[in-house]
Amino acid sequence: MAEQVPLSKAARADDPAYDKARNDETHEVAPDVAYQRLALVNVAYVGVPGSNEWVLIDTGVPGTARFIKAAAAARFGKESRPAAIVITHGHFDHVGALETLAREWDVPVYAHIHELPYLDGRAAYPPPDPSVGGGIMSTLSPLFPRGPVDVSPWLRELPLDGTVPGMPGWKWVATPGHTPGHVSLWRASDRMLIAGDAFITTRQESAYGAWTQAPEMHGPPMYFTQDWEASRRSVEALAALEPEVAVTGHGRAMRGEELRAALATLARDFDRVAVPEHGRYVAEPARVETRTAYEPTRNR
Ligand SMILES: [Zn+2]
Ligand SMILES: [Zn+2]
Repeated sequence: MAEQVPLSKAARADDPAYDKARNDETHEVAPDVAYQRLALVNVAYVGVPGSNEWVLIDTGVPGTARFIKAAAAARFGKESRPAAIVITHGHFDHVGALETLAREWDVPVYAHIHELPYLDGRAAYPPPDPSVGGGIMSTLSPLFPRGPVDVSPWLRELPLDGTVPGMPGWKWVATPGHTPGHVSLWRASDRMLIAGDAFITTRQESAYGAWTQAPEMHGPPMYFTQDWEASRRSVEALAALEPEVAVTGHGRAMRGEELRAALATLARDFDRVAVPEHGRYVAEPARVETRTAYEPTRNR
């Protein structure tokens, strides 16, 4: 499969000096923003190092709680716990350690209202679509867990005024399509974007791409995307923000003019490069309005 939109290593947002001093796969992209690669997915830390005012965004694949706790302790201090956990969306590779961390830290978990049914035990995602092709990750996707997780004691809806609890200066932006309640996080003062899987910077469908993280501007992971039309509109909205830095759920964080140009190209050519030629959700999106977005758990 051809590259979607080329991106060079020169556009990486990581600070090599910071990376060199560490060995826990944590990369800093601003003094108060870092992300950590946990096998095939990223989590992000927002807050001034050493402070108690910080937020964890997403929680990795199952089994990664101890890596997240170790990185958080290194960055914010031993015994430090976040003010909140914010979930971009509830796919298994973004909520893997959520139940463990919510319980141990006893902190609120924020998500979009349309994502709550996947996080409080009510519903599972519709099945992934291996027919989109692109590699082994797509082929294996029917084996991935699709929920639900249940963190209802800690679960809260993101505030309707767009603010993000524990993250002053940030706004959440609804970016549905990959999932119905997917959100991205945006800080206008330095044009910092945390995009979840609204778009990503590596070819997640292929195990090789997901592992090596060869950079490329890429639409949302194909096998897990429920509504391609909404997904295109979300990418258009994010491209219009003209971010300086983008931290994505998969792949390296990217920055600068090359990032903006590649994102603009992805938005413009989305139907041609990001949308799979075949796929059940291309023909028939799974949407909240048509009651196809949520699979009742009692039927599984
Ligand atoms: Zn996802
Ligand atoms: Zn993902």
